Order: sequence, then C-alpha cells, then structure tokens
Amino acid sequence: MILPAIPTTLTVVISRGHSRNPEKRAVEAAIVDAATRLPGVRVLDLPHLYDLKADTEAIKTLLGVDGEMIVASWLFPRATHWLLDRIGVRGQVGETSFDEVADEDDDNDAEMKGDGGEEPRVTDLFPRQGRTIYSLDMRAGDGEKLAAEVRRIADQVAVQSESDGDQATDLSGPWSSRAGNFEPLPPIRLDDSPTRRWYPVIDYSKCTNCMECIDFCLFGVYGIDGAETILVEQPDNCRKGCPACSRVCPANAIIFPQHKAPAIAGAAVEGEEGFKIDLSLLFGAPDQTADPVAVAARERDEQLLLAGRAAVGMPQSRRTQSKDAAPDHLDDLIDQLDQCEL
Ligand code: SF4
Ligand code: SF4
Repeated sequence: MILPAIPTTLTVVISRGHSRNPEKRAVEAAIVDAATRLPGVRVLDLPHLYDLKADTEAIKTLLGVDGEMIVASWLFPRATHWLLDRIGVRGQVGETSFDEVADEDDDNDAEMKGDGGEEPRVTDLFPRQGRTIYSLDMRAGDGEKLAAEVRRIADQVAVQSESDGDQATDLSGPWSSRAGNFEPLPPIRLDDSPTRRWYPVIDYSKCTNCMECIDFCLFGVYGIDGAETILVEQPDNCRKGCPACSRVCPANAIIFPQHKAPAIAGAAVEGEEGFKIDLSLLFGAPDQTADPVAVAARERDEQLLLAGRAAVGMPQSRRTQSKDAAPDHLDDLIDQLDQCEL
C-alpha cells in the first residue's frame, strides 16, 4: 500500500500478537487509540511482524515509512529492533522509559570491547544512520502506561522536530499544545494472515561477523551479503523450536524472538555488577549438557535426525577447540566475584 502524502512527524506501528486474549487486544487498542489522537502521528496496525514475508502488503507499507517510528510488539525491544533491521527498516535505537536494563547491556558491550573483545561489531563498520526507532514491548505495562509512553515519545519527537527547524511538516511543538486543533489521521489496519514462522534474527550491534553460525548451521539458513557480512538468507530453512546456533554465537548476537527463555528471545540479561555470570560454569557442570556448545550440538543432532540425516556431534569450531580454556574462564569468573562486595 502506498501511504498518503500527509505531513507526519511520527509513525506508530502496532505489531499484533497471535493470542486472542482480550486483555492483549485491549492493550493494542489502547495504543492505537492514543496514537490516533496525536497530531502529526500516523498509525499502522499490522499483523505480527515476525511472521511477515517480504512480499506482504504490510512489509511493503512499512518500507515506505520514513521519519521516526515507535513500534509496539509482544517481543523484547532488542528483538523488535533487529527484526525491523532485517526487513530493511533501519535506524538508531531510541531510548524508552522501560529501557534501564538495556542501558546496562550497552555499558557491558563497551566493557567487553575494551577488555579483550576488541573485534568491531557489524554496526561499527556499517552504522545505521538517520531516524530513530523506539521499540516498545507491550508486556512492559498496561494499555494506559504504554499509551502514556507513546505520548511522551511523540512530544519528544515533535520538540526535536521544532528545534531542527523542520518546516516540511509544520507540526512542531508538544502534541498537548496542539491537541484539539487538528484532523486525526485514521489508523491504517492491514490484515495479511501470515502463518507462524521460526528463524534467527541477528543483533548487528553485537555481531562480530565471526561466521561461527554459518559453519554451525547445517540447514543453509545463513549466508553472506555483497560486503561479506553474515545474514539470515533462508529463514524458513530453520528448524522450528530449535535455538541451537544462538548457543554457539560468541557475541550473544543471535535472537530467537519467540523462544521461551528470555536470554535467547532478546532480553538484556546482564547482572548489575557489570559483567555476565554464567551460573552453569560457576557452580560446576554436572555433565556435558552444561556446556552451551554441547547443548547446541545435541539440539542440532536432534534436528538432523528428524530431517532424516545423520548426526554429526560436536562442531569443530574455534569455541569447541578452545574447550580446554574453560578452567581459565571459570577462574576469571571467580576473580570477578572476589572483587565484588556480595
Ligand atoms: S556467530 Fe554470532 S557473532 Fe558470529 S557471525 Fe554469527 S551472529 Fe555474528
Ligand atoms: S536453529 Fe538450527 S537450523 Fe536454525 S539457524 Fe540455528 S543452527 Fe540453523
């Protein structure tokens, strides 16, 4: 769908959930209602973004949006941001009032880089420029709280637009000062009915382009683009429910947005002390399954067998070869704990 050329300062996208739970539908409706009442705000009410393929009306419409965006979904914000990036809807990560933990995550990335993890991230090489995208997890609050956050961001964007001297829209200034003095834009609702999908999403702000995942995956999911950067090339080759490659990624850059474990689904999982604690390592591995690479190898073998292929066992990757280094890693963790006042 070609979006009407109406001046807007902000587009609010709702990615509807799969559930028919009336409480969830009410949260989505509250955001649509609140955003529709804001001057200069366009509202797109779309099916679940994760399920949509490139040739759907919803994705084509999204690709036609320029300018700032708020995207509300039933996913962790990091998953939403990089899912959009994969689609081709790119921008800077916008901070929201629900983001405190994510900020710690960013600090940790900086620490990791200065502490031995110096490899550049893909976004260091190919920075995302231009507009800001604010991702809201609709599980973070009730409809009222989320609607208030949409209004707060809309205000912030409008004030920024004013200070940038944006004459094109003539919609600058806080929405509250203009409320009641404008024609609301009716929300655009699209009802593509996609089937459920399962595939990895890469967080390029963490990815070091090390190619562990392309070597590990034996189902042809990953590929490389013209700049030799990793990408998810054949998402629908991925085996439903399996998150194996997320466990072998050294940078924790692979997200399965629908996985039940928050760490795999894109949550920020850093500790307040400023470093990661892998409890399975710290408290000893009762058997091989505590090693994430071994767990991943087992999960991959299960999928190979289900697909009628032969199991292959442990991968011959850099991580596996360096398994002997595990005691050093454990020593490091214990040293870090010693430095903390627990
Ligand atoms: S394993 Fe992780 S860091 Fe390495 S290329 Fe794949 S996604 Fe990027
Ligand atoms: S979960 Fe398995 S099939 Fe899917 S991309 Fe990762 S390794 Fe490949």
